[in-house]
Amino acid sequence: MRLSGRVAIVTGGARGIGRSIAEALLKEGAKVVISDTLEDELRRTSEDLSRYGEVMALKADVTKRDDMAKVVEEVVKRFGRVDILVNNAGIALQKAAIDMELSDWQRVIDVNLTGVFICSQAVAGQMIKSGNGGVIINISSILGVSGLELRSAYCASKAGVIGLTKSLAAEWGKYGIRVVAVAPGYIATERVLDLVRKGIVDEAEYNRRTPLGRMGRPEEVAKLVAFLASDDASYINGDVVLIDGGYTYNAGPL
Ligand code: NDP
Repeated sequence: MRLSGRVAIVTGGARGIGRSIAEALLKEGAKVVISDTLEDELRRTSEDLSRYGEVMALKADVTKRDDMAKVVEEVVKRFGRVDILVNNAGIALQKAAIDMELSDWQRVIDVNLTGVFICSQAVAGQMIKSGNGGVIINISSILGVSGLELRSAYCASKAGVIGLTKSLAAEWGKYGIRVVAVAPGYIATERVLDLVRKGIVDEAEYNRRTPLGRMGRPEEVAKLVAFLASDDASYINGDVVLIDGGYTYNAGPL
């Protein structure tokens, strides 16, 4: 129970990796607020997760400052504090750069990068006011470290998250706030498995190029996030932690 007494917000927590993160934080003793735009899924997930501890579900869009200010206000009203923010909400887009509409580009940047800034700013204001510090964990991607064709907006947004993580870590360390990024390789969420079924993601090729020979599981990312959120990671700040089965640093075959 490394997170007893702590209060966490997980954006995009209704499903996928966010849902697993919420479960892992609950199992470590935290009270968890999941926010998402998917109302029904949010309700079902919070009912399901409530067997592990105290869960609160709030419908909110990370691109809307008013929504996120309201989330922080509600959380503080109910729990009196906020210690952990996991910026997990994100969207993907596969499109040739040459055909990209500016609106497509902007939507990906808005959700994946500006959304992280909006949520971090809202929560850090409260963390600074309380004097208790806190932890902000940003879910980037191995595509924030490497490039991939047809993913220009996604790669740019996730690389931006890494730059933002380093900058906020430098700026908010003096308040006892740690800011860390996690960069997963392919993780077998429903969304990704659907892309595999549609032939958009080539699972066999990914597995072949990954030393561990498989995709990751949402609960593997969740365990890393729970560690980073805990005092066991008390000197980790401004870093990017890859969780990709060895994919990114595999130079072979040569
Ligand atoms: P999912 O689509 O399963 O979950 C993401 C959740 O975020 C969805 O419920 C989604 O709702 C929600 N969301 C989207 N936009 C917003 C918004 N504006 N405000 C609030 N919530 C929103 O994705 P994954 O679990 O697969 O991915 C989670 C994170 O991990 C993302 O940031 C993703 O980029 C990152 N990631 C995932 C990898 C993977 O292989 N799965 C690999 C590397 C990184 P909706 O369905 O309505 O969009």
